[in-house]
Amino acid sequence: MIDKALLNDLAGCESPETLLAAMLRHHPEPRTPVDVEAWARKVGIADFGERDDDGAPSGLIIDPVTNSGIIEFAAGLPAPRRRYAIAHQLGHFLLGDHHGDRQCTHRDLAENRRDTTHRKQEMRANRFAAGLLMPKPWFSDFVVGLGKQSVLHLAAIAAEYGVSLDVAATRYADLTQTMGAWLFAKDGTFRYARPSRSFPDLAIQAGAALPAALLAAKPEDRIAWAPADPRDWIAVPRGSRPPKLALQVHSKANGFQLILLSINAAAERRADEEAEKAATESPKFGRRPSR
Ligand SMILES: [Zn+2]
Repeated sequence: MIDKALLNDLAGCESPETLLAAMLRHHPEPRTPVDVEAWARKVGIADFGERDDDGAPSGLIIDPVTNSGIIEFAAGLPAPRRRYAIAHQLGHFLLGDHHGDRQCTHRDLAENRRDTTHRKQEMRANRFAAGLLMPKPWFSDFVVGLGKQSVLHLAAIAAEYGVSLDVAATRYADLTQTMGAWLFAKDGTFRYARPSRSFPDLAIQAGAALPAALLAAKPEDRIAWAPADPRDWIAVPRGSRPPKLALQVHSKANGFQLILLSINAAAERRADEEAEKAATESPKFGRRPSR
């Protein structure tokens, strides 16, 4: 059912954020998981269909006469990924990125670069999708409600919002004020990470073996924070003091491991200030204090 009042409000919106703000004004009450198909039908998506997964798990077909669209997704796509694919295509549809048919690859659905027109369009569709499925104010309240940071929170977020773990991790990393990183590993091998903006550059490369302590971690281990060697994980510039790094790991029986790395930003700032103070107060070698 097309919502004309909503469509009128969306007509002047040119960015994912203005679209999402207008949509949230129409439906301000938190209701999760967000009904992404209902949203799509309100704004002009006439139907949904299955397609073969030929490397492009989702597509958008626009009828230029009626300006309505059909969103396709690969048959057998798990529900969280199907929801994300629909939200992504809805982003293309509302942002007016293209006027014919479009197929998006797995890489497009994770694009976060903006150095070409194509990548920028994909990145904007992803920003829209994340914001539609996990509206910022609801997401922030939900995460605060979970309490003290834990590696187990990601599964709770994914379940609440009906999204995959990597999509939940990306949103968390984008919105958090904390200095942390989610890392995904399988069978003892690091695969990819979702670091927060303020987190130092990672030194560990995709395909690298995890540090020994994590290779020995078992599904039945108690989840607890443990100190980690910064040199195993992050790039520490020569001559600088490495930050104190802590980690939690959740190991699954299928060989999947989720790791949360955390740095206490406030403690690091205090340590930096103290180091600076100590350096300026200590007498310089070979120089007498002037009188
Ligand atoms: Zn796309």
